[in-house]
Amino acid sequence: MIEVNHSKIKETNRKKIISLLLEKNEITKLDISRILDISITTVSTNIAQLKDMGVVEDVGTLESTGGRKAVTIKLDENCKYSIGIALTPNHIKLSLVNLRRRVIDSLSIRHKNDGIENIIKLTKENLDTIIKKYALNPSNLLGIAFSIPGTVDFKEGIIKYAYLLKTKDFNFKKEFEYLKVPIYIENEANLSAYYEFLNRKDEIENLLYVSITDGLGLGIVINNKIYRGDNNSAGELGHTKIAIDGKSCKCGAKGCLEAYTSMDVLIEKYNEKTKLNITDISEFEEKYNQFDKVTEEILDEYLKIFSLGISNLIMLLDPNSIVIGGDINNLLNDKIETLKNNIYKDNLFTNEDNCKISVASFRESYLLGAAMMPIEEFLEIK
Ligand SMILES: [Zn+2]
Repeated sequence: MIEVNHSKIKETNRKKIISLLLEKNEITKLDISRILDISITTVSTNIAQLKDMGVVEDVGTLESTGGRKAVTIKLDENCKYSIGIALTPNHIKLSLVNLRRRVIDSLSIRHKNDGIENIIKLTKENLDTIIKKYALNPSNLLGIAFSIPGTVDFKEGIIKYAYLLKTKDFNFKKEFEYLKVPIYIENEANLSAYYEFLNRKDEIENLLYVSITDGLGLGIVINNKIYRGDNNSAGELGHTKIAIDGKSCKCGAKGCLEAYTSMDVLIEKYNEKTKLNITDISEFEEKYNQFDKVTEEILDEYLKIFSLGISNLIMLLDPNSIVIGGDINNLLNDKIETLKNNIYKDNLFTNEDNCKISVASFRESYLLGAAMMPIEEFLEIK
């Protein structure tokens, strides 16, 4: 005998209704029933329960054929919230979004990077402020997702190795369990890939996202899911080796691609050549925009090495689409043709028609990706 799991069907129906309400502004019960192919009785029961929960409300009446008026209903988009928090080597960035995925509030706080415990303390203080300000609690907060620049154990909520935050094997999730809401921790590049993917999920199933920040990361989405590897360390493109006994990398090894292609390499090379002392990538960008020859030479040299990494990635995974994002998007946009030429000039196996290379359209997509995770988990039909 096949056992029918009624509560599962009920939950699936409810999620389908919420997703449809998110899509449409106002809709009648009859239309919900027609579009989702669920009986009107089931729709009515669900809507009644959602009203009791404060999730939906009646908004008006539509003149229907035959003179009867049909009541339209609407979802209260502020009935549920989600929080994304990105920990970077200098900042704690926080975004509060509502069920319609709109950003309601954001914070960016500088930290001293003086140990994970201090970063957590500062995070909790700011999180508490937001929680109080919006009266968030386990019934209206769907969860909090953290973006970490390093490898993480997603299931256990452990930071495995994040040298940019000077921490290793740290049980991060435990620190936030007092909030009694789902806590997710995920690698920064994975979240960027996830966010780009969510915005294009009707067109694509696979996506590679290469992130250039203080490190060099790779997020892999395969068959609509983040691919994390058997040991949660997939996508460490930055630590693939390109030289024997090469330049020292922040991870502790030598000859890693990241040692030649993280964002700070541009600053470092510029200071080395000019004996000046710029500290921020925006200064480099500014000089480049003023047609400064040195910045252009450095960038061209940088792109030659970076292209090697991308070429190797294409050889390994044969993707249709690679998105490059992070902190130097403006520079990349200006040099996209050079980049493509570098990548494909020595490749006899594939070409640009097979794999589209583009620069990310969103900034801080890791933070937005984090904020989306609890919502997607809530709406996902398993
Ligand atoms: Zn390394």
